Amino acid sequence: MYQSLEALRFDNHFLRELPADPETANFRRQVTGACYSRVQATPVQAPRLIASSPEMLQALGIDPALAETDAFAQIFAGNALAPGMEPYAMCYGGHQFGNWAGQLGDGRAINLGHLITPDGQRQELQLKGAGLTPYSRHADGRAVLRSSIREFLCSEAMHHLGVPTTRALSLVATGEQVVRDMFYDGRPRPEPGAVVCRVAPGFLRIGNFELLAARGEHPLLRQLADYTLRHFYPELGEPGPDAYLALFDEICRRNVDLVVHWMRVGFVHGVMNTDNMSILGLTIDYGPYGWTDDFNLDWTPNTTDAEFRRYRFGAQPQVTLWNLVQLANALYPLIEQVEPLEAILRKHQQALGEKLDAMWVAKLGLETFRPETDAALIQDLQKTLALTETDMTIFFRQLPELDIDLARNPDADRHHILAPLMEAWYKPDELELQGEAILAWLRRYAERLAQDALSAEERRARMNQVNPKYVLRNYMAQQAIDASEQGDHSLVHELLDVMRRPYDEQPRYAHWFARRPDWARTKPGCSMLSCSS
Ligand code: AMP
Ligand code: MG
Repeated sequence: MYQSLEALRFDNHFLRELPADPETANFRRQVTGACYSRVQATPVQAPRLIASSPEMLQALGIDPALAETDAFAQIFAGNALAPGMEPYAMCYGGHQFGNWAGQLGDGRAINLGHLITPDGQRQELQLKGAGLTPYSRHADGRAVLRSSIREFLCSEAMHHLGVPTTRALSLVATGEQVVRDMFYDGRPRPEPGAVVCRVAPGFLRIGNFELLAARGEHPLLRQLADYTLRHFYPELGEPGPDAYLALFDEICRRNVDLVVHWMRVGFVHGVMNTDNMSILGLTIDYGPYGWTDDFNLDWTPNTTDAEFRRYRFGAQPQVTLWNLVQLANALYPLIEQVEPLEAILRKHQQALGEKLDAMWVAKLGLETFRPETDAALIQDLQKTLALTETDMTIFFRQLPELDIDLARNPDADRHHILAPLMEAWYKPDELELQGEAILAWLRRYAERLAQDALSAEERRARMNQVNPKYVLRNYMAQQAIDASEQGDHSLVHELLDVMRRPYDEQPRYAHWFARRPDWARTKPGCSMLSCSS
């Protein structure tokens, strides 16, 4: 356990093994022939820690008492460097909303290097909102408190939900204001600023590879692929065409698994551009993400995406495949054969369908997938959930409480059967209209369950491990933000705590097991999220 911040040990292999931009002055530019630029964070006025993640401190081996010190706030706001920290911004490109955008890069994220944890792992620390870099383009390099709270809480929530993700160590208020036009209505206003320290084994994105391929920098592309293999996928063997294919295969597998998790918990990323897709299969870049309250495959949280809904909830699996095609194109110069890349893509396309089926089977508590009945059961469930606004989290968490015998009894009273699920429906009058159709599906489901050998208790136990009781609903985070902006950070701490055990009942937090309240239906931050962060 590190007892002081001066004692932290780093192994900055990214810097050591990949070429740096020779220019060290901090101005916006195109950077070629390099994977990163060295850059210092811009100091802030009055850094103050708002929250830290106990699990992350533990994993990094940092004594929790250190998090309370001023030195910690100074370092994790970007005002000071601990020995061994070497700040830099990565160079990458990406496809944004389907179009090639050229160079993007870390415009406001500054990496500090790879910390060696007490158990010998390497975890990279990165400050988001730490000031201008060569990649800041037209923006200011800063982040507002609002979006930083959302990133901090959601990173940790996702981890506890069992969804691969970058993590968050700390949330530090900068004591400075940042000007944002949150509604894009030409009325920018100052908001409090913050810096989040993100943590991951690495922050490489599909876009790192794409940019080098697009520029024809093939030797450097190979160098980056070799670095990736060596440090993140050593089990795939020595660099060479076979290992590059195995790398592609494994990145596909991880991202396919990732999007299945997102669909399981109702998470909508909101900006699945290829610069926001991790080479390690982690959820990365929490911006205008959202959680679908009512199960709505057409919903997108991102105001910028409202028209075409490219990144809507239900499109996420297809978009993942599209993004992986871009990665295939980027890796092609190293492999120079189309067929094996296409074969891997086809394999994962098929696997994606199977994994989605398996995910639904688990959510429904079925013992195994029986294609002859279950494919239609799953399809029809998704249609049924959309008949009238149905809260996804409540519906699935309450589903094991359905009385199977009652549901199978044609003479049973409809209200009686539906009773355990009533909290899931937003519009009682619509429910009256759709009740028969919903009941019809529940009866089929009950008949299907009757064919399984699982007891009700076994089924409930299984289902409660995949259907969370608590997710970080948009309105929950927004309440924490509203209070925090007024100086009261208690809700940030409470939500961090709730989300540490999202599958547990946690009776003292039962008030968070609730439908989105009506006031949140149209409130910014609760229904639609701005990209302005
Ligand atoms: P995103 O899709 O939101 O992850 O961001 C796309 C690109 O814009 C990335 O290169 C970011 O680093 C950059 N960016 C976003 N916000 C800012 C900001 N406030 N200052 C500088 N660069 C930014
Ligand atoms: Mg990004």
